[in-house]
Amino acid sequence: MKITVARSAGFCFGVSRAVNIVEKSLDQGKKVCTLGTIIHNPQKVNELKKRGVRVVESPDEAKLDETLVIRSHGVSQNVYDTINALGLEYKDATCPFVLKIHKIVAEHSAEGYSILIAGDENHPEVKGIIGHCKSEYYIFNNSDTLAELLDKFPLLKNKPLCAVVQTTFDKKEWKKNLKILQKLCTNAKIFDTICSATSDRQSEAEVLSANSDLMLVIGGKHSSNTNKLYKICQKKCSQTYLIESAEELPFSAISGADRIGITAGASTPESIIKEVLVTMTEEIKKIEESEAEPKFEELLEESFKNYNTDGRVHGVVVGVTPTEVRVDVGRKQTGIIPLTELSGDPNAKPEDLVKVGDELDLIIMKTNDQEGTIMLSKRLYDAQKGWDDIIKAEEEKTIVTGVVTEIVKGGVIALTNGVRVFIPASLATATRGESLDGLLKKEVSFRIIETTRQRRRAVGSIRSVLNDERKQKAEAFWAEAEVGKKYTGVVKSLTSYGAFVDIGGIDGMVHISELSWSRIKHPSEVVNVGDTVEVYIKSLDKEKGKISLGYRKDEDNPWEILKNKYPVGTECEVEVVGLTQFGAFARIIPGIDGLIHVSQISNERVEKPQDVLSVGQKVNVKITAIDFEKKRISLSMKELLIDAQSEAADKEVTEEAAE
Ligand code: SF4
Repeated sequence: MKITVARSAGFCFGVSRAVNIVEKSLDQGKKVCTLGTIIHNPQKVNELKKRGVRVVESPDEAKLDETLVIRSHGVSQNVYDTINALGLEYKDATCPFVLKIHKIVAEHSAEGYSILIAGDENHPEVKGIIGHCKSEYYIFNNSDTLAELLDKFPLLKNKPLCAVVQTTFDKKEWKKNLKILQKLCTNAKIFDTICSATSDRQSEAEVLSANSDLMLVIGGKHSSNTNKLYKICQKKCSQTYLIESAEELPFSAISGADRIGITAGASTPESIIKEVLVTMTEEIKKIEESEAEPKFEELLEESFKNYNTDGRVHGVVVGVTPTEVRVDVGRKQTGIIPLTELSGDPNAKPEDLVKVGDELDLIIMKTNDQEGTIMLSKRLYDAQKGWDDIIKAEEEKTIVTGVVTEIVKGGVIALTNGVRVFIPASLATATRGESLDGLLKKEVSFRIIETTRQRRRAVGSIRSVLNDERKQKAEAFWAEAEVGKKYTGVVKSLTSYGAFVDIGGIDGMVHISELSWSRIKHPSEVVNVGDTVEVYIKSLDKEKGKISLGYRKDEDNPWEILKNKYPVGTECEVEVVGLTQFGAFARIIPGIDGLIHVSQISNERVEKPQDVLSVGQKVNVKITAIDFEKKRISLSMKELLIDAQSEAADKEVTEEAAE
């Protein structure tokens, strides 16, 4: 297991400075109160509280004999005015980077600039910045709200503007905002005031989480920068946990991870990071010991010490009962294998393992001449021999088979030739996070990846074998794969842009546009995870190992259906699906709409299609033209009316002639 702690984890310069100011004042014997909690870390706040530090919400709650400390977020100008008016002693721990923003907005707003602030309007830092603006100000927290703002106040673009950013603002989001500002507000003076401590921490966390199986973000649950870090890490690593202290460590998840990344918010003291690290390391050690040194091994060692293991004998089974097996070992005593010495599998029954006449290699555990019996163990013999086989299998990297007898914390135990092999959860299945329940009592194939001779400890990997199988299948697949080849596959997952289908060890993607001839919003309108589907290879890139699959069939192509069943001249019922000034669009079959031009709606003049037709209405039309190349179809209601009229006229003439 590899644990990596981000270099940027923990106190930033500004927070460290603020805490130092408080602690130094305490060391000087001063009574201290802070304007709001000095940092977003409950543990550190409690520690300071124990040293007498009070937290006040406004300057008038501070006592005259106390030193009021302004925290790193900074405060508005009127707070300074109140402090001075009350005659309070104070220390300003506002981070110099925040003070710089105060200066920018104060100077520019005094010169008549409107101030734009990218940030969270509820964050104390932004509230402080607002309090230094002497003119109008506007706040936005993403590119959408910025666009809305500029839409709502179109004149803003032409005014002199000054834009600043909350120090902890997301760097990527700011880039999007910056583009809009540079494009639409050409007058704006833009100050990128994002603190590099924040962006460095975020970039490092992003890279670390992308390379970790499990990510720990340590920090206050109410800290904005810690929450932002959590979100960044969660995007790259699904097993991301936000914890405030070592007490919240997710041990069961940790035991299944190989690579653990740790970062911490700007307000997290180093002592808490260390505590998490130490607690986690100790706990991992305990888990490894309890999992990789099963009790059986200790018992086995013990049994080797207590019994005479030199006596190996060969015998023939002469009787089997539910509790013991009787064996003839060629001596006058009766050989007995108690059930517990027959197999290490607690679920095994003697009648399933041996039958009368079977020849067995055994170890003599005890001879009782008085009773005329010899206590034998097949389990010990198997374990000794099995251990030799295990060592060989590790050296030669051969595949061994065994039966999973137990599911234990952190993995499973597989029994092979009397040896218990621990298989960690992370190596027990093809992909991480799969349930282990299905493995119980099943025969599995695995490789031995680690042994400790002295401790008779063996660790196995089922995944190593599954990976090989998958690789072999993949090689066989690529050797035969060609465009157009058909496969029966199973839908493994869906995304907004397509469905991933397992076509026998290889996953290919059916793009959403290839799922249906009609326009669909999501692949789930056509297929679901677990569905068995018929697909074919549309394109493949052997080098990159990518395959695009096709799903929709030519015979379902609505244009083919139209060609075969709806030739020009066909009269049919259609449904109006859209109305424009120049005509109505009507659905002939799903996926195919035709146009009834306004001049073709009636044999009388129609001003607008909306005057006589409405969406959803069903009407009879004649197909008057089809352009397959341009995919255009002309429909006419008028022609049907003309046809009907001429039919009526013909009928009248015929009737008159008959009279
Ligand atoms: S994150 Fe940056 S701006 Fe904020 S307190 Fe820390 S150093 Fe100062």
